[in-house]
Amino acid sequence: MAKVIHKSYNQNDSLLLPPSLGELISKTHPVRIVSDILDKFDISDIEATYKSGGTSSYHPRMLLKVVVYAYLCNVYSGRQMERLLHENIHFMWLSSMSYPDFRTINRFRSERLSGGRLENVFTRVVELLNDEGLVSLNVQYIDGTKIESVANKYTFVWKGSVEKNKAKLIDKVRGVLSAAEEELDIEESTEFPEEQPQEEFERRSKRILSKMDSMGISKGKQRRLIEKTASDSKSKLDEYDKHLDTLGERNSYSKTDPDATFMRMKEDAMNNGQTKPGYNVQISTENQFITNYGVFWQPNDQGTLIPYLKSFEERYGKQSAEIVADSGYGSEQNYEYMFGGGMIPYVKYNMFHAEMKRKYKNNPFLPNNMYYNKTEDYYVCPMGQHMELAYCKKEKSDLGYTSNKSVYMARDCSRCPLRGMCYKANADRRTIEVNHNNNAYRARIRELLTSEDGLRHRSKRPIEPEAVFGNIKFNHGFKRFRLKSTEKVSVEWGLVAIAHNLRKYIACKA
Ligand code: SF4
Repeated sequence: MAKVIHKSYNQNDSLLLPPSLGELISKTHPVRIVSDILDKFDISDIEATYKSGGTSSYHPRMLLKVVVYAYLCNVYSGRQMERLLHENIHFMWLSSMSYPDFRTINRFRSERLSGGRLENVFTRVVELLNDEGLVSLNVQYIDGTKIESVANKYTFVWKGSVEKNKAKLIDKVRGVLSAAEEELDIEESTEFPEEQPQEEFERRSKRILSKMDSMGISKGKQRRLIEKTASDSKSKLDEYDKHLDTLGERNSYSKTDPDATFMRMKEDAMNNGQTKPGYNVQISTENQFITNYGVFWQPNDQGTLIPYLKSFEERYGKQSAEIVADSGYGSEQNYEYMFGGGMIPYVKYNMFHAEMKRKYKNNPFLPNNMYYNKTEDYYVCPMGQHMELAYCKKEKSDLGYTSNKSVYMARDCSRCPLRGMCYKANADRRTIEVNHNNNAYRARIRELLTSEDGLRHRSKRPIEPEAVFGNIKFNHGFKRFRLKSTEKVSVEWGLVAIAHNLRKYIACKA
Protein backbone atom coordinates (compact mmCIF):
# COMPACT_ATOMS: atom_id res chain seq x y z
CA MET A 1 0.00 0.00 0.00
CA ALA A 2 1.38 3.39 -1.02
CA LYS A 3 2.25 5.85 1.75
CA VAL A 4 -0.03 8.91 2.19
CA ILE A 5 1.97 12.07 1.59
CA HIS A 6 0.83 15.43 2.98
CA LYS A 7 2.06 18.81 1.89
CA SER A 8 4.32 20.54 4.38
CA TYR A 9 2.45 22.35 7.18
CA ASN A 10 4.37 24.57 9.53
CA GLN A 11 2.44 27.47 10.97
CA ASN A 12 5.44 29.18 12.48
CA ASP A 13 7.59 28.89 9.38
CA SER A 14 9.34 32.23 8.81
CA LEU A 15 10.03 33.62 5.36
CA LEU A 16 13.42 34.85 4.33
CA LEU A 17 11.87 37.98 2.74
CA PRO A 18 8.37 38.98 3.91
CA PRO A 19 5.95 39.26 0.96
CA SER A 20 4.35 42.67 0.27
CA LEU A 21 0.58 42.69 0.83
CA GLY A 22 0.03 43.90 -2.74
CA GLU A 23 1.54 40.67 -4.07
CA LEU A 24 -1.16 38.70 -2.29
CA ILE A 25 -4.04 40.65 -3.88
CA SER A 26 -5.06 39.78 -7.42
CA LYS A 27 -4.64 42.44 -10.09
CA THR A 28 -8.39 42.54 -10.78
CA HIS A 29 -9.65 42.52 -7.21
CA PRO A 30 -12.38 45.14 -6.46
CA VAL A 31 -10.24 46.69 -3.75
CA ARG A 32 -7.66 47.70 -6.38
CA ILE A 33 -10.34 49.28 -8.57
CA VAL A 34 -11.74 51.24 -5.60
CA SER A 35 -8.23 52.37 -4.67
CA ASP A 36 -7.33 53.38 -8.24
CA ILE A 37 -10.56 55.36 -8.69
CA LEU A 38 -10.25 57.21 -5.39
CA ASP A 39 -6.58 57.96 -6.14
CA LYS A 40 -7.64 60.00 -9.16
CA PHE A 41 -9.96 62.36 -7.28
CA ASP A 42 -9.05 65.74 -5.93
CA ILE A 43 -9.85 65.67 -2.21
CA SER A 44 -8.28 69.00 -1.30
CA ASP A 45 -11.55 70.09 0.37
CA ILE A 46 -11.30 67.14 2.77
CA GLU A 47 -7.59 67.82 3.35
CA ALA A 48 -8.43 71.45 4.13
CA THR A 49 -10.43 70.34 7.20
CA TYR A 50 -7.17 69.40 8.98
CA LYS A 51 -5.47 72.05 11.07
CA SER A 52 -1.72 72.41 11.11
CA GLY A 53 0.25 71.70 14.27
CA GLY A 54 -0.15 68.94 16.81
CA THR A 55 0.51 65.31 16.10
CA SER A 56 0.41 63.75 12.65
CA SER A 57 -2.97 62.61 11.28
CA TYR A 58 -3.94 59.56 9.26
CA HIS A 59 -4.03 60.39 5.57
CA PRO A 60 -7.59 61.42 4.54
CA ARG A 61 -7.28 59.55 1.23
CA MET A 62 -6.48 56.34 3.10
CA LEU A 63 -9.44 56.86 5.47
CA LEU A 64 -11.72 57.65 2.52
CA LYS A 65 -10.69 54.45 0.75
CA VAL A 66 -11.20 52.40 3.92
CA VAL A 67 -14.68 53.83 4.58
CA VAL A 68 -15.83 53.51 0.94
CA TYR A 69 -14.49 49.97 0.62
CA ALA A 70 -16.12 49.01 3.94
CA TYR A 71 -19.51 50.20 2.62
CA LEU A 72 -18.85 48.23 -0.55
CA CYS A 73 -18.39 45.13 1.65
CA ASN A 74 -21.62 45.84 3.61
CA VAL A 75 -19.67 46.97 6.67
CA TYR A 76 -21.28 50.10 8.11
CA SER A 77 -19.96 50.16 11.68
CA GLY A 78 -16.77 52.01 12.67
CA ARG A 79 -15.82 49.28 15.15
CA GLN A 80 -16.09 46.60 12.47
CA MET A 81 -13.93 48.70 10.15
CA GLU A 82 -11.32 48.96 12.90
CA ARG A 83 -11.40 45.16 13.32
CA LEU A 84 -11.04 44.58 9.59
CA LEU A 85 -8.00 46.86 9.49
CA HIS A 86 -6.30 44.34 11.78
CA GLU A 87 -7.64 41.16 10.20
CA ASN A 88 -8.43 41.61 6.53
CA ILE A 89 -5.60 41.71 4.04
CA HIS A 90 -7.52 44.02 1.65
CA PHE A 91 -8.16 46.59 4.36
CA MET A 92 -4.55 46.24 5.55
CA TRP A 93 -3.35 46.90 2.02
CA LEU A 94 -5.66 49.91 1.64
CA SER A 95 -4.47 51.43 4.90
CA SER A 96 -0.84 50.38 4.26
CA MET A 97 -0.86 48.73 7.67
CA SER A 98 -2.07 51.84 9.52
CA TYR A 99 -4.52 51.11 12.29
CA PRO A 100 -6.86 54.04 12.93
CA ASP A 101 -9.30 53.20 15.70
CA PHE A 102 -13.09 53.38 15.39
CA ARG A 103 -13.22 56.87 16.91
CA THR A 104 -10.90 58.23 14.22
CA ILE A 105 -12.92 56.45 11.51
CA ASN A 106 -16.25 57.71 12.91
CA ARG A 107 -14.97 61.27 13.29
CA PHE A 108 -13.64 61.20 9.73
CA ARG A 109 -16.97 59.90 8.41
CA SER A 110 -19.28 62.21 10.31
CA GLU A 111 -17.18 65.39 10.44
CA ARG A 112 -14.62 65.52 7.64
CA LEU A 113 -16.96 64.08 5.00
CA SER A 114 -19.93 66.29 5.90
CA GLY A 115 -20.51 69.83 4.61
CA GLY A 116 -20.85 68.64 1.01
CA ARG A 117 -17.36 67.08 0.85
CA LEU A 118 -18.60 63.53 0.35
CA GLU A 119 -21.14 64.87 -2.17
CA ASN A 120 -18.14 66.06 -4.22
CA VAL A 121 -16.66 62.56 -4.17
CA PHE A 122 -20.02 61.12 -5.26
CA THR A 123 -20.21 63.66 -8.12
CA ARG A 124 -16.71 62.66 -9.29
CA VAL A 125 -17.76 58.99 -9.30
CA VAL A 126 -20.82 59.76 -11.46
CA GLU A 127 -18.74 61.93 -13.78
CA LEU A 128 -16.38 59.00 -14.21
CA LEU A 129 -19.36 56.77 -15.10
CA ASN A 130 -20.48 59.44 -17.55
CA ASP A 131 -17.01 59.61 -19.14
CA GLU A 132 -17.06 55.83 -19.56
CA GLY A 133 -20.48 55.97 -21.25
CA LEU A 134 -22.28 54.07 -18.48
CA VAL A 135 -24.66 56.94 -17.76
CA SER A 136 -25.69 59.89 -19.93
CA LEU A 137 -27.33 62.09 -17.23
CA ASN A 138 -30.04 62.80 -19.82
CA VAL A 139 -32.69 60.85 -17.98
CA GLN A 140 -33.51 60.43 -14.31
CA TYR A 141 -35.68 57.68 -12.88
CA ILE A 142 -36.65 59.14 -9.52
CA ASP A 143 -38.06 57.43 -6.47
CA GLY A 144 -37.90 57.69 -2.70
CA THR A 145 -37.86 55.39 0.29
CA LYS A 146 -38.05 55.89 4.02
CA ILE A 147 -35.11 54.75 6.06
CA GLU A 148 -35.29 54.49 9.81
CA SER A 149 -33.18 56.73 12.00
CA VAL A 150 -30.98 55.33 14.75
CA ALA A 151 -33.28 57.16 17.21
CA ASN A 152 -35.52 55.21 19.53
CA LYS A 153 -39.08 54.85 18.22
CA TYR A 154 -40.66 55.96 21.51
CA THR A 155 -38.98 59.37 21.65
CA PHE A 156 -41.60 61.30 19.70
CA VAL A 157 -42.71 64.90 20.12
CA TRP A 158 -45.96 65.69 18.31
CA LYS A 159 -46.76 69.24 17.24
CA GLY A 160 -50.47 68.79 18.02
CA SER A 161 -49.77 67.74 21.65
CA VAL A 162 -47.26 70.55 22.19
CA GLU A 163 -49.69 73.19 20.90
CA LYS A 164 -52.56 71.73 22.95
CA ASN A 165 -50.52 71.58 26.16
CA LYS A 166 -49.19 75.08 25.63
CA ALA A 167 -52.72 76.47 25.18
CA LYS A 168 -53.88 74.58 28.31
CA LEU A 169 -51.01 75.99 30.37
CA ILE A 170 -51.70 79.53 29.20
CA ASP A 171 -55.38 79.18 30.14
CA LYS A 172 -54.50 77.77 33.54
CA VAL A 173 -52.00 80.53 34.37
CA ARG A 174 -54.40 83.22 33.19
CA GLY A 175 -57.08 81.73 35.45
CA VAL A 176 -54.80 81.83 38.51
CA LEU A 177 -53.67 85.41 37.80
CA SER A 178 -57.21 86.65 37.11
CA ALA A 179 -58.51 85.13 40.35
CA ALA A 180 -55.72 86.84 42.32
CA GLU A 181 -56.31 90.16 40.55
CA GLU A 182 -60.01 89.98 41.33
CA GLU A 183 -59.41 89.20 44.97
CA LEU A 184 -56.88 92.02 45.37
CA ASP A 185 -59.02 94.39 43.36
CA ILE A 186 -56.46 94.97 40.62
CA GLU A 187 -57.80 96.22 37.35
CA GLU A 188 -57.38 93.57 34.64
CA SER A 189 -55.13 94.78 31.86
CA THR A 190 -55.70 93.96 28.20
CA GLU A 191 -52.56 95.60 26.85
CA PHE A 192 -50.63 92.33 26.41
CA PRO A 193 -50.27 90.88 22.93
CA GLU A 194 -51.66 87.34 22.58
CA GLU A 195 -48.43 85.93 21.17
CA GLN A 196 -46.30 86.97 24.18
CA PRO A 197 -47.91 85.15 27.10
CA GLN A 198 -44.66 84.92 29.07
CA GLU A 199 -44.27 88.69 29.10
CA GLU A 200 -47.92 89.02 30.14
CA PHE A 201 -47.50 86.56 33.02
CA GLU A 202 -44.36 88.27 34.31
CA ARG A 203 -45.91 91.73 34.33
CA ARG A 204 -49.19 90.57 35.82
CA SER A 205 -47.55 88.52 38.58
CA LYS A 206 -45.22 91.45 39.37
CA ARG A 207 -48.22 93.74 39.77
CA ILE A 208 -49.96 91.22 42.01
CA LEU A 209 -46.86 90.70 44.16
CA SER A 210 -46.24 94.44 44.57
CA LYS A 211 -49.89 94.90 45.57
CA MET A 212 -49.44 92.12 48.14
CA ASP A 213 -46.28 93.89 49.40
CA SER A 214 -48.21 97.14 49.79
CA MET A 215 -50.90 95.23 51.70
CA GLY A 216 -48.27 93.59 53.91
CA ILE A 217 -48.90 90.06 52.58
CA SER A 218 -45.35 88.72 52.61
CA LYS A 219 -46.26 85.03 52.89
CA GLY A 220 -49.22 82.72 52.63
CA LYS A 221 -50.69 80.18 50.23
CA GLN A 222 -51.84 82.69 47.63
CA ARG A 223 -48.47 84.48 47.45
CA ARG A 224 -46.65 81.17 47.08
CA LEU A 225 -49.05 80.15 44.33
CA ILE A 226 -48.39 83.35 42.36
CA GLU A 227 -44.60 83.01 42.76
CA LYS A 228 -44.68 79.35 41.77
CA THR A 229 -46.98 79.95 38.79
CA ALA A 230 -44.68 82.69 37.45
CA SER A 231 -41.51 80.58 37.64
CA ASP A 232 -43.07 77.25 36.54
CA SER A 233 -44.89 78.76 33.57
CA LYS A 234 -41.66 80.34 32.32
CA SER A 235 -39.75 77.06 32.22
CA LYS A 236 -42.72 75.18 30.73
CA LEU A 237 -43.41 77.80 28.06
CA ASP A 238 -39.69 77.90 27.16
CA GLU A 239 -39.79 74.12 26.76
CA TYR A 240 -42.87 74.24 24.50
CA ASP A 241 -41.35 77.04 22.40
CA LYS A 242 -38.15 75.04 22.01
CA HIS A 243 -40.16 72.04 20.79
CA LEU A 244 -42.04 74.24 18.31
CA ASP A 245 -38.78 75.76 17.05
CA THR A 246 -37.31 72.30 16.44
CA LEU A 247 -40.52 71.13 14.75
CA GLY A 248 -40.62 74.03 12.28
CA GLU A 249 -42.99 72.93 9.50
CA ARG A 250 -42.98 69.30 10.68
CA ASN A 251 -45.65 67.54 12.70
CA SER A 252 -43.25 65.44 14.75
CA TYR A 253 -39.63 64.85 15.66
CA SER A 254 -37.59 62.48 17.76
CA LYS A 255 -35.99 63.67 21.00
CA THR A 256 -32.87 61.59 20.37
CA ASP A 257 -32.47 62.65 16.73
CA PRO A 258 -34.26 66.00 16.35
CA ASP A 259 -33.86 66.00 12.54
CA ALA A 260 -35.73 62.68 12.21
CA THR A 261 -39.47 62.90 11.54
CA PHE A 262 -41.99 60.20 12.42
CA MET A 263 -43.29 58.51 9.29
CA ARG A 264 -44.81 55.23 8.16
CA MET A 265 -42.24 52.77 6.86
CA LYS A 266 -42.69 50.05 4.28
CA GLU A 267 -40.99 47.59 6.59
CA ASP A 268 -43.60 47.30 9.31
CA ALA A 269 -42.68 44.18 11.29
CA MET A 270 -45.63 44.52 13.69
CA ASN A 271 -47.98 45.33 10.80
CA ASN A 272 -49.75 47.93 12.91
CA GLY A 273 -48.93 51.05 10.90
CA GLN A 274 -46.77 52.43 13.71
CA THR A 275 -44.76 55.47 12.71
CA LYS A 276 -41.02 55.46 13.26
CA PRO A 277 -38.41 58.22 13.22
CA GLY A 278 -36.72 58.32 9.85
CA TYR A 279 -35.77 60.18 6.71
CA ASN A 280 -37.19 60.24 3.20
CA VAL A 281 -34.31 59.36 0.87
CA GLN A 282 -34.66 60.31 -2.79
CA ILE A 283 -32.51 58.89 -5.58
CA SER A 284 -32.21 59.25 -9.34
CA THR A 285 -30.99 56.27 -11.30
CA GLU A 286 -29.92 55.58 -14.84
CA ASN A 287 -28.98 52.07 -15.95
CA GLN A 288 -29.33 51.27 -12.22
CA PHE A 289 -26.47 53.61 -11.30
CA ILE A 290 -27.37 56.27 -8.73
CA THR A 291 -26.86 59.67 -10.34
CA ASN A 292 -28.23 61.89 -7.57
CA TYR A 293 -29.55 61.60 -4.04
CA GLY A 294 -31.15 63.75 -1.37
CA VAL A 295 -32.37 63.34 2.19
CA PHE A 296 -35.65 65.03 3.15
CA TRP A 297 -37.88 65.27 6.21
CA GLN A 298 -41.16 65.40 4.22
CA PRO A 299 -42.86 61.99 4.46
CA ASN A 300 -44.46 62.34 1.01
CA ASP A 301 -42.51 62.62 -2.23
CA GLN A 302 -44.51 65.40 -3.89
CA GLY A 303 -42.93 68.23 -1.92
CA THR A 304 -39.40 66.95 -2.43
CA LEU A 305 -39.30 66.97 -6.24
CA ILE A 306 -38.49 70.63 -6.96
CA PRO A 307 -35.62 71.01 -4.44
CA TYR A 308 -34.39 67.59 -5.50
CA LEU A 309 -34.30 68.49 -9.21
CA LYS A 310 -32.53 71.74 -8.32
CA SER A 311 -29.87 69.73 -6.47
CA PHE A 312 -29.23 67.70 -9.65
CA GLU A 313 -28.75 70.90 -11.64
CA GLU A 314 -26.40 72.32 -9.01
CA ARG A 315 -24.39 69.11 -8.99
CA TYR A 316 -23.81 68.80 -12.75
CA GLY A 317 -24.51 72.32 -14.03
CA LYS A 318 -27.29 70.97 -16.26
CA GLN A 319 -30.66 69.30 -15.97
CA SER A 320 -31.75 65.95 -17.41
CA ALA A 321 -34.00 66.18 -20.44
CA GLU A 322 -36.34 63.42 -19.25
CA ILE A 323 -37.75 62.85 -15.78
CA VAL A 324 -39.49 59.58 -14.95
CA ALA A 325 -41.30 59.11 -11.64
CA ASP A 326 -44.44 57.55 -10.18
CA SER A 327 -47.74 59.25 -9.43
CA GLY A 328 -46.55 60.29 -5.96
CA TYR A 329 -44.71 63.15 -7.68
CA GLY A 330 -47.50 64.26 -10.03
CA SER A 331 -48.86 67.68 -9.07
CA GLU A 332 -49.67 70.91 -10.84
CA GLN A 333 -46.76 72.64 -9.12
CA ASN A 334 -44.29 69.94 -10.14
CA TYR A 335 -45.56 69.84 -13.75
CA GLU A 336 -45.26 73.61 -13.95
CA TYR A 337 -41.65 73.42 -12.74
CA MET A 338 -40.67 70.61 -15.10
CA PHE A 339 -42.42 71.92 -18.23
CA GLY A 340 -41.22 75.44 -17.39
CA GLY A 341 -37.63 74.20 -17.07
CA GLY A 342 -37.73 72.50 -20.47
CA MET A 343 -37.85 68.97 -19.04
CA ILE A 344 -40.02 66.17 -20.43
CA PRO A 345 -41.84 64.69 -17.45
CA TYR A 346 -42.97 61.08 -17.69
CA VAL A 347 -44.62 61.51 -14.31
CA LYS A 348 -48.08 60.05 -13.71
CA TYR A 349 -50.78 61.74 -11.68
CA ASN A 350 -53.01 59.85 -9.24
CA MET A 351 -55.98 59.44 -11.63
CA PHE A 352 -53.91 58.37 -14.64
CA HIS A 353 -54.71 54.65 -14.51
CA ALA A 354 -58.37 55.23 -13.64
CA GLU A 355 -58.70 57.56 -16.65
CA MET A 356 -57.38 54.84 -18.94
CA LYS A 357 -60.25 52.50 -18.00
CA ARG A 358 -63.33 52.11 -20.18
CA LYS A 359 -65.61 52.70 -17.19
CA TYR A 360 -64.10 56.17 -16.75
CA LYS A 361 -64.02 57.01 -20.44
CA ASN A 362 -67.67 56.02 -20.90
CA ASN A 363 -68.97 57.96 -17.90
CA PRO A 364 -70.70 61.03 -19.42
CA PHE A 365 -71.22 62.68 -16.02
CA LEU A 366 -67.54 63.29 -15.34
CA PRO A 367 -66.46 66.88 -16.07
CA ASN A 368 -63.56 65.60 -18.21
CA ASN A 369 -66.03 63.80 -20.48
CA MET A 370 -68.47 66.68 -20.86
CA TYR A 371 -68.29 68.97 -23.87
CA TYR A 372 -66.42 72.18 -23.05
CA ASN A 373 -66.78 75.34 -25.10
CA LYS A 374 -63.48 77.11 -24.57
CA THR A 375 -64.42 80.33 -26.39
CA GLU A 376 -67.56 80.97 -24.39
CA ASP A 377 -66.34 79.12 -21.29
CA TYR A 378 -69.17 76.74 -20.47
CA TYR A 379 -69.68 72.98 -20.12
CA VAL A 380 -72.60 71.03 -21.54
CA CYS A 381 -74.03 68.35 -19.26
CA PRO A 382 -75.43 65.00 -20.56
CA MET A 383 -78.95 66.54 -20.63
CA GLY A 384 -77.68 69.33 -22.87
CA GLN A 385 -77.88 72.00 -20.18
CA HIS A 386 -75.16 74.67 -20.24
CA MET A 387 -73.10 74.85 -17.08
CA GLU A 388 -71.93 78.45 -16.95
CA LEU A 389 -68.99 79.83 -15.04
CA ALA A 390 -70.29 80.88 -11.61
CA TYR A 391 -67.07 82.10 -9.99
CA CYS A 392 -63.32 81.47 -9.74
CA LYS A 393 -61.44 80.67 -6.58
CA LYS A 394 -57.87 80.21 -5.44
CA GLU A 395 -56.71 77.24 -3.40
CA LYS A 396 -53.42 77.05 -1.57
CA SER A 397 -51.80 73.64 -1.14
CA ASP A 398 -49.87 72.54 1.97
CA LEU A 399 -46.72 73.33 0.01
CA GLY A 400 -47.83 76.93 -0.51
CA TYR A 401 -48.72 76.60 -4.21
CA THR A 402 -51.82 78.51 -5.35
CA SER A 403 -54.13 76.85 -7.88
CA ASN A 404 -56.90 78.63 -9.74
CA LYS A 405 -60.19 76.80 -9.91
CA SER A 406 -63.27 77.66 -11.96
CA VAL A 407 -66.67 76.70 -10.61
CA TYR A 408 -69.45 75.97 -13.16
CA MET A 409 -73.11 75.57 -12.28
CA ALA A 410 -76.10 74.10 -14.08
CA ARG A 411 -79.23 76.30 -14.08
CA ASP A 412 -81.72 73.84 -12.68
CA CYS A 413 -81.45 70.09 -12.13
CA SER A 414 -84.59 69.61 -10.02
CA ARG A 415 -86.60 67.88 -12.75
CA CYS A 416 -83.78 66.08 -14.52
CA PRO A 417 -84.40 62.31 -14.92
CA LEU A 418 -80.63 61.68 -14.76
CA ARG A 419 -80.14 63.49 -11.47
CA GLY A 420 -79.58 60.34 -9.40
CA MET A 421 -76.76 59.24 -11.69
CA CYS A 422 -75.32 62.72 -12.13
CA TYR A 423 -74.57 63.92 -8.58
CA LYS A 424 -75.17 63.03 -4.95
CA ALA A 425 -75.33 66.44 -3.26
CA ASN A 426 -78.65 67.80 -1.92
CA ALA A 427 -78.40 71.04 -3.93
CA ASP A 428 -81.01 71.60 -6.63
CA ARG A 429 -78.36 72.06 -9.32
CA ARG A 430 -75.02 70.52 -10.09
CA THR A 431 -71.75 72.34 -9.51
CA ILE A 432 -68.39 71.28 -10.95
CA GLU A 433 -64.93 72.54 -10.08
CA VAL A 434 -62.34 72.60 -12.83
CA ASN A 435 -58.63 73.39 -12.68
CA HIS A 436 -57.98 74.24 -16.34
CA ASN A 437 -54.26 74.72 -15.88
CA ASN A 438 -53.82 71.31 -14.24
CA ASN A 439 -56.07 69.70 -16.86
CA ALA A 440 -53.85 71.10 -19.62
CA TYR A 441 -50.76 69.65 -17.92
CA ARG A 442 -52.50 66.31 -17.47
CA ALA A 443 -53.46 66.18 -21.14
CA ARG A 444 -49.79 66.69 -22.09
CA ILE A 445 -48.72 64.08 -19.56
CA ARG A 446 -51.26 61.55 -20.94
CA GLU A 447 -49.89 62.10 -24.41
CA LEU A 448 -46.31 61.62 -23.21
CA LEU A 449 -47.03 58.53 -21.11
CA THR A 450 -48.90 56.77 -23.92
CA SER A 451 -46.25 57.60 -26.53
CA GLU A 452 -43.59 55.06 -27.54
CA ASP A 453 -40.98 56.71 -25.30
CA GLY A 454 -43.49 56.93 -22.48
CA LEU A 455 -44.29 53.21 -22.64
CA ARG A 456 -40.58 52.39 -22.67
CA HIS A 457 -39.90 54.57 -19.62
CA ARG A 458 -42.95 53.22 -17.79
CA SER A 459 -41.82 49.63 -18.26
CA LYS A 460 -38.29 50.52 -17.17
CA ARG A 461 -39.18 52.53 -14.07
CA PRO A 462 -39.90 49.56 -11.75
CA ILE A 463 -36.50 48.02 -12.50
CA GLU A 464 -34.62 51.27 -12.01
CA PRO A 465 -34.81 53.03 -8.60
CA GLU A 466 -37.03 50.38 -6.99
CA ALA A 467 -34.56 47.62 -7.85
CA VAL A 468 -31.70 49.75 -6.52
CA PHE A 469 -33.47 50.33 -3.20
CA GLY A 470 -34.27 46.62 -2.95
CA ASN A 471 -30.66 45.72 -3.62
CA ILE A 472 -29.31 48.16 -1.03
CA LYS A 473 -31.85 47.27 1.64
CA PHE A 474 -32.22 43.53 1.25
CA ASN A 475 -29.05 42.30 -0.44
CA HIS A 476 -26.68 44.67 1.29
CA GLY A 477 -28.56 45.00 4.58
CA PHE A 478 -28.66 48.79 4.80
CA LYS A 479 -32.03 49.30 6.50
CA ARG A 480 -31.22 51.83 9.19
CA PHE A 481 -28.98 54.86 9.53
CA ARG A 482 -26.28 54.76 12.17
CA LEU A 483 -25.65 58.50 12.45
CA LYS A 484 -27.92 61.30 13.63
CA SER A 485 -28.93 64.58 11.90
CA THR A 486 -29.75 65.26 8.26
CA GLU A 487 -26.18 66.26 7.46
CA LYS A 488 -24.59 63.08 8.83
CA VAL A 489 -27.34 60.88 7.43
CA SER A 490 -26.61 62.44 4.01
CA VAL A 491 -22.98 61.40 4.39
CA GLU A 492 -24.05 57.85 5.21
CA TRP A 493 -26.39 57.66 2.25
CA GLY A 494 -23.70 59.20 0.01
CA LEU A 495 -21.34 56.40 1.03
CA VAL A 496 -24.06 53.83 0.31
CA ALA A 497 -24.61 55.42 -3.12
CA ILE A 498 -20.87 55.54 -3.95
CA ALA A 499 -20.50 51.91 -2.85
CA HIS A 500 -23.50 50.89 -4.96
CA ASN A 501 -22.11 52.66 -8.05
CA LEU A 502 -18.63 51.20 -7.62
CA ARG A 503 -20.01 47.70 -7.10
CA LYS A 504 -21.96 48.01 -10.32
CA TYR A 505 -19.03 49.61 -12.14
CA ILE A 506 -16.78 46.72 -11.09
CA ALA A 507 -19.42 44.23 -12.28
CA CYS A 508 -19.61 46.03 -15.66
CA LYS A 509 -15.82 45.95 -16.03
CA ALA A 510 -15.48 42.29 -15.05
S1 SF4 B 1 -78.63 66.57 -13.14
FE1 SF4 B 1 -78.32 68.61 -13.98
S2 SF4 B 1 -76.23 68.58 -14.66
FE2 SF4 B 1 -76.81 66.46 -14.38
S3 SF4 B 1 -77.50 65.79 -16.33
FE3 SF4 B 1 -79.30 66.51 -15.26
S4 SF4 B 1 -79.46 68.63 -15.83
FE4 SF4 B 1 -77.45 67.99 -16.42
